[in-house]
Amino acid sequence: MCIAVGNWKHKPCVTNGRADLLRALCNFALVAMLGASGILASADSDVVYGHATEELWSRRFPSRDVSYLLLSTSTGKTIAARWESADVPVPAGSLVKPFTAIAYAESHGFRFPVHICTAGTCWLPQGHGELGIVRAVAHSCNSYFTNLGGLVDAGEVTAVARRFGLAGPGVQASAEELAGLHGAWLETPSALAHAYAEMLAQLSRPGIREIAQGMAQSAKDGTAAGLSAALPRTVMLAKTGTSYCTHHPCATADGFVVVAWPEDSPRYVLLVREHGQTGARTAVLAGQMLRALSE
Ligand SMILES: [Zn+2]
Repeated sequence: MCIAVGNWKHKPCVTNGRADLLRALCNFALVAMLGASGILASADSDVVYGHATEELWSRRFPSRDVSYLLLSTSTGKTIAARWESADVPVPAGSLVKPFTAIAYAESHGFRFPVHICTAGTCWLPQGHGELGIVRAVAHSCNSYFTNLGGLVDAGEVTAVARRFGLAGPGVQASAEELAGLHGAWLETPSALAHAYAEMLAQLSRPGIREIAQGMAQSAKDGTAAGLSAALPRTVMLAKTGTSYCTHHPCATADGFVVVAWPEDSPRYVLLVREHGQTGARTAVLAGQMLRALSE
């Protein structure tokens, strides 16, 4: 594969005389990336996967409403991207919730509370009922995380966020802001993608382990269920977010989703933003994007 891949790197997939062969190699690279086989994975192969992915997604998902960053966790590098101003801070919505949870865990003996989300206190009108951290992450429960935000110091959350390369919410942040509400906690898309990669590199650690379990449940049947609907046989980790639109003209919201795979030791982290959508709808789009890699 390496020799063939070396040839491919210098020749566009579909524009030379060996288009069929090269397209087949591109498809092989994409399927290998989705499988994220440990045997095939290397820094070189990541470059190939990244180029092939960019080429495919620019054809299949050309809308300017769609932004994405794809990271290799082994190198920490962005291997495919289409995101104008990925270094400009934006409201991150619920994507910040895991970092508040880690700060809470570290200051509370790594034990998370059980909380009852009642009608009218959450984005889900009827409330989520009784839930712990795993289901709270899976369903991005605002009520659970606002409660958690009231039990942890904003300075501690800021310190934890900075450990992961984020700006953090600031020491004056309210409980709601620590839950990602009100559009107050700003992060750059680039820092967010890297922070998730850093967090998931430690997914067996107490505090992070529970968040990863919630992210697996999110992709299976939570707010990111659009992923498993598109790829029922691929187990992924995911977290959605819905936040204030930063585009002009402005929409009611922008949807975000972070997807990481393989689930037991993520090698790739994909951050997708869709203008004018919810995080759940953006997970449907991310599922279509990833399914396109295997078609
Ligand atoms: Zn809730």
